[in-house]
Amino acid sequence: MTTLNDSVHWSAELGRGTRVALIQAGHFRSDAGALLGPVPRMMWNDLVTDEIDHQHRILQALNCLLVETPAGRVLVETGIGDRIGDKGRAMRAYEGPWIVPALEKAGFDPESVDAVVVSHLHYDHAGGVLRANGDLAFPRASFIAQLAEWKIAMGDNPRLVAGYDQPELRLVRDLGLHGTVDGEVEILPGVTVIPTGGHSAGHQGVLIRGREKTVAFFGDLCMRPWSANPRWVTAFDDFPLDSVTAKASLFARAADEGWTIVLSHEPLHPVGRLLRDRDRYHYEARF
Ligand SMILES: [Zn+2]
Repeated sequence: MTTLNDSVHWSAELGRGTRVALIQAGHFRSDAGALLGPVPRMMWNDLVTDEIDHQHRILQALNCLLVETPAGRVLVETGIGDRIGDKGRAMRAYEGPWIVPALEKAGFDPESVDAVVVSHLHYDHAGGVLRANGDLAFPRASFIAQLAEWKIAMGDNPRLVAGYDQPELRLVRDLGLHGTVDGEVEILPGVTVIPTGGHSAGHQGVLIRGREKTVAFFGDLCMRPWSANPRWVTAFDDFPLDSVTAKASLFARAADEGWTIVLSHEPLHPVGRLLRDRDRYHYEARF
């Protein structure tokens, strides 16, 4: 059975005073069939046999990044958080630590975070914005998601809202944390959000550029090593054809420019790079 790698302390210097650290904010389990979606089982069955449980679920880490730049600190993703009830915890086999204790253990004060960026507003990415008592987890930080994502998350399409915890998002919004960006925006020098759509309408990736290296986080468009095939999208992707297009163009840039990639839900080997492989890509783990 796969477990989380407790020794994950990956960090990288990108040059120009920019540093990225991987923080894992716990883990949960998701149905393997739903994750691998439209791909026939015979093509993926062998990839998950080590980690699948008796309920056909695989282990998903909640990978977050703490980015330090001369202009400020940015947290990318917040995981499921500490406000989920016992029933939800048990149903998803969710275990912490949630993002605040995970950050503190890694030596970062939540008060020192200037901006929180989420790839999208699904519960497993935007759940750690508030503490259990409803206080802001990152009191000084602006909160950055795409305007299109807020619109769809707070909308009324029954298929699309299923992945969002609307009462929680309403609380977040009412606290004034609806920091919306619309399109590609450099939120601090060297840290850029790029709208991708696909997994959700307003899904975005994050590029962190230093003088020597670039780190890319593609959110749930690139959650596990098998995501390296642009056509392997999850059944949770609300706009799968958009996912395929966005993955193909982003992965081409990542491979050609040698970007370091951090996967959103990979427990054991979350840092690597993408290499061209015929009409797809191959993920090569480096950590
Ligand atoms: Zn996710």
